[in-house]
Amino acid sequence: MNAPHEVSLVADDARRSALLAGLAKILPDAALLWKPEDTVPYECDGLAAYRQVPMAVALPDNEDQVCAILRLCHSLQVPVVPRGAGTSLSGGAMPIATGLVLSLAKFKRIVSVDVRSRTAVVQPGVRNLAISEAAAQYNLYYAPDPSSQIACTIGGNVSENSGGVHCLKYGLTVHNVLRVRAVTMEGDVVEFGSEAPDAPGLDLLAAVIGSEGMLAVVTEVSVKLIPKPQLAQVIMASFDDVAKGGNAVADVIGAGIIPAGLEMMDKPATAAVEEFVRAGYDLDAAAILLCESDGTPEEVAEEVERMSEVLRASGASRIQVSQSEPERLRFWSGRKNAFPAAGRISPDYYCMDGTIPRKHIGTLLKRIEEMERKYGLRCMNVFHAGDGNMHPLILFDGADQDEWHRAELFGSDILESCVELGGTVTGEHGVGVEKLNSMCVQFSAQERDLFFGVKAAFDPARLLNPDKAIPTLARCAEYGRMHVKRGLLPHPDLPRF
Ligand SMILES: Cc1cc2nc3c(=O)[nH]c(=O)nc-3n(C[C@H](O)[C@H](O)[C@H](O)COP(=O)(O)OP(=O)(O)OC[C@H]3O[C@@H](n4cnc5c(N)ncnc54)[C@H](O)[C@@H]3O)c2cc1C
Repeated sequence: MNAPHEVSLVADDARRSALLAGLAKILPDAALLWKPEDTVPYECDGLAAYRQVPMAVALPDNEDQVCAILRLCHSLQVPVVPRGAGTSLSGGAMPIATGLVLSLAKFKRIVSVDVRSRTAVVQPGVRNLAISEAAAQYNLYYAPDPSSQIACTIGGNVSENSGGVHCLKYGLTVHNVLRVRAVTMEGDVVEFGSEAPDAPGLDLLAAVIGSEGMLAVVTEVSVKLIPKPQLAQVIMASFDDVAKGGNAVADVIGAGIIPAGLEMMDKPATAAVEEFVRAGYDLDAAAILLCESDGTPEEVAEEVERMSEVLRASGASRIQVSQSEPERLRFWSGRKNAFPAAGRISPDYYCMDGTIPRKHIGTLLKRIEEMERKYGLRCMNVFHAGDGNMHPLILFDGADQDEWHRAELFGSDILESCVELGGTVTGEHGVGVEKLNSMCVQFSAQERDLFFGVKAAFDPARLLNPDKAIPTLARCAEYGRMHVKRGLLPHPDLPRF
């Protein structure tokens, strides 16, 4: 199959009028936005450097409306971008000029919580944290906990296969979602997975989770709930060198321990956070690790002891264990507020999301230090160390085009180092529009063609969130032509146009 060219629908007045007239028959007035002052708030997601005002925004509140909207857009060949809370950091929910934003914000009902099967059925616009809040009365919770969990929706989490602090032990979204109900671009309702332990047929649930809104629009999700642990304690371990801290992560896992959370922050990150949250971090350390243990009091005591031993042997200069639940939450609040803290010390930040084998964390952190000098920009590191999922935050001023350009090059350099070290260009934030070029480095033309094949099986007209996540052959050729790394031209097999 030939990879398609990027969508280049021209905004034409006739199509716009037909779309608005059709939508007006499906939705009440208040659920259809088309005036510039109403659509501008949707022009970007969490990756605010990329912006585009859409033709219109639809806010349906039931599945029949979603089906009708998609059928209408399909018949008019109007591209559709599904949207949850718009916290994506990769531009996945960024609109298309000639397209419709389909907001699922009104789908915020928790349909049911079943204590006996420890599951919940929720609509896609339900916030991640709201699921755990609803389950708390049964002493249950939903484990994947992105730092954005107060705002981001389960529909967005499914589409990005989101992770969080506790995913090292309890799994990512894909491990905690049992069933997804969705609508295809042609307006047909489909179901993936099941609430039973297994589902017959090909495992398309795993294909839909992480598909970045390109295969179907999620309208209902069944999630697993797990019992809240009796006790949790977190260790804060200080290191006088980032590489030592990085190596300690591999040592903890290598010792056969899977902590409930294993996160790392370097000195620039703890400094920024401390001013903002007063989390009680060691500001003299070059890096700190936060290692959580949960379970019964006996299990926690034993694991904290073992982890402390490993951390000391790996060179930790100081170890502090949370002594109360408020102190544990304070340690985590610093980590969870690290991105907003970056926003306080810099006009803009650019968050990378590469993943590498844990044993290379120290190597990558040292390379990032060199890159800071090369690109003349500061970077702070705060990340899911146990998963090897790095989140370098490149600090820059978006008003300065040269700084933004250097930030983009810096980001690509980091992601390509991740690939070189045996990792991937994205861990949990998705590809969106942000990492399209880096996908050219990670995947061959044949592999990208297979991705387009899956997309075509769900959405042959290529109207659902097009031009995201999978780069075209032409784009990769262009990137390859411009991008010479360490004197070598990547993918010399690709035709250079
Ligand atoms: C401060 C901050 C911290 C963050 N921390 C984390 C973190 O720890 N871990 C993590 O994984 N991510 C993190 N993120 C990224 C982001 O919050 C997640 O990707 C989240 O899952 C996005 O959810 P959303 O509802 O905002 O989706 P949106 O941003 O609205 O959309 C994201 C993608 O999902 C698609 N989509 C949304 N809803 C649907 C639907 N119903 N059907 C089909 N497609 C849909 C969109 O088209 C888009 O491609 C963070 C973001 C911020 C701003």
